Amino acid sequence: MVIKSDTKLICLLGHPVKHSKSPLMQNKALEIAGEDAVYLVFDVLPEKLKESIEGIKAMGFKGANVTIPHKEEVMKYLDELTKEAENIGAVNTIVAKDGKLIGDNTDGQGFVLSLMNEGGFDPRDKKVLMLGAGGAAKAVAVKLSFEGIKSMAIYEIDKEKADKLREHIKAINKESEIEVISKNELENRASVADLIVNCTPVGMKDSDPELLSESVFFEGQFVFDLIYNPEKTKLLQNAEKKGAKILNGLGMLVFQGALAFEKWTGKKPDTKAMFKAIKGE
Ligand code: NAP
Repeated sequence: MVIKSDTKLICLLGHPVKHSKSPLMQNKALEIAGEDAVYLVFDVLPEKLKESIEGIKAMGFKGANVTIPHKEEVMKYLDELTKEAENIGAVNTIVAKDGKLIGDNTDGQGFVLSLMNEGGFDPRDKKVLMLGAGGAAKAVAVKLSFEGIKSMAIYEIDKEKADKLREHIKAINKESEIEVISKNELENRASVADLIVNCTPVGMKDSDPELLSESVFFEGQFVFDLIYNPEKTKLLQNAEKKGAKILNGLGMLVFQGALAFEKWTGKKPDTKAMFKAIKGE
């Protein structure tokens, strides 16, 4: 594209961000939609976050994405938050509107869209097992708690984090049935869960241990791993071997990006082209 004097800017703020796939899919979507805007990536240290946000506002950016480690910290530098961002307690998307910066979150909805549209899995009345209670888990668990699930069990290496996530969800969704489980209960719970979601980084490296043994998986179960590199973690390989349906995190990445795109431009992006751009096709 030709960059002109009035070409608008959208960016990703994170640290580190070198390996981000977002510019590939967002710039492709902008090009297809005929938007006169570019998506750039900035490696921003935590101590420079406030100034970066002020810069985005001062220079009239269209919006931004925010990633690790800024998703929570950024909230205090924004003018307004959407209900979704407030509920999740984190921001992954900033939209500039009428001179204000509005913090939103598309991670949870991106997950649900991927689960339902790509995976064909309806979480209503289902027993969910969440692995991990970090940043991504928070977005997924909050969103799932509003999708009419039957119950949710959370296992996290750091039990305090899981307790905090449970309290957070109970505070905004009193009806939700959420329990924190210990390592001893993990395999039993996994073997009766309809949906297992891995929100830990375990599985990214070849040397990582197995989160669950193969024996817990069964036909009719759905296993979602937020990791997309490698494409099929050991968790997904074992689940698939036992006949469970599986999905990696690539679709969540694309759908959260597509939702952010729509908020910045008011247009629905070409998600197929976004998938292709990420895969380098
Ligand atoms: P995070 O905030 O660091 O959370 C990960 C959590 O998992 C931490 O609380 C960690 O505990 C815990 N954990 C580590 N090993 C564990 C184990 N064996 N059992 C149980 N819990 C364990 O990271 P995040 O941002 O949530 O990201 C998690 C994963 O999701 C990463 O692989 C990331 O790439 C992926 N992700 C994908 C998407 C997508 O769009 N597909 C979006 C966001 C994130 P400690 O801190 O105590 O180690």
